[in-house]
Amino acid sequence: MRLRLAHLTVTRHVNGPGDRLTLWVQGCGRGCPGCFNPELQDPAGGRLLAPAAVADRAVELLPWDGVTLSGGEPFDQAGALVAFLDRLRAAMPHRFDVVAFTGYLREELEAGPEDWKALLARVDLLVDGPFRADLPPRPPLRGSANQRLLALTPRGEELLTLARRSPMDVLVSLGPSGEVVVSGFPPPELLESLRRRLGRPSSAE
Ligand code: SF4
Repeated sequence: MRLRLAHLTVTRHVNGPGDRLTLWVQGCGRGCPGCFNPELQDPAGGRLLAPAAVADRAVELLPWDGVTLSGGEPFDQAGALVAFLDRLRAAMPHRFDVVAFTGYLREELEAGPEDWKALLARVDLLVDGPFRADLPPRPPLRGSANQRLLALTPRGEELLTLARRSPMDVLVSLGPSGEVVVSGFPPPELLESLRRRLGRPSSAE
């Protein structure tokens, strides 16, 4: 089993509360109009890696408090992400929490294949629902107002409180080919200003 991965980063209060290791998985077949991360849709992009190797790299990147799964569509690679999280859980010196972004609804995941349910069982805070470019962002953590923030565990409730207490930051960086990468959920006016000044930025939720 392999995990198709686009990026692996550690950011502070950008992709969830605290210092978070964020996996942007590569590949998504949902095709939301106005997709936030079109460069992550290609199912042949990114790199194919063993989940255990990604977990070992995550341990090397300590310290961080929790893991965020984004993409692309994490639940399209649910089995590989379960293997990654279980390997990480076994290797880590402390407990960590999990935030996941998905274009599916929680109800679809609960009625889906076993590996979807297995991954959902490992998530504390879920941001669910398809991205809709015709709706405004909904802080915290939602790229469009239809998406839901769902605490699935007591730790998820704590994350929700932390996320609501202080606004998430936005990280703007240069990618390996000189492209501008925006991570987080910038207000539309900031994104528009970046587009005007720098050309169309790539986005990473
Ligand atoms: S689910 Fe996310 S990555 Fe997939 S098409 Fe929709 S916005 Fe893009």
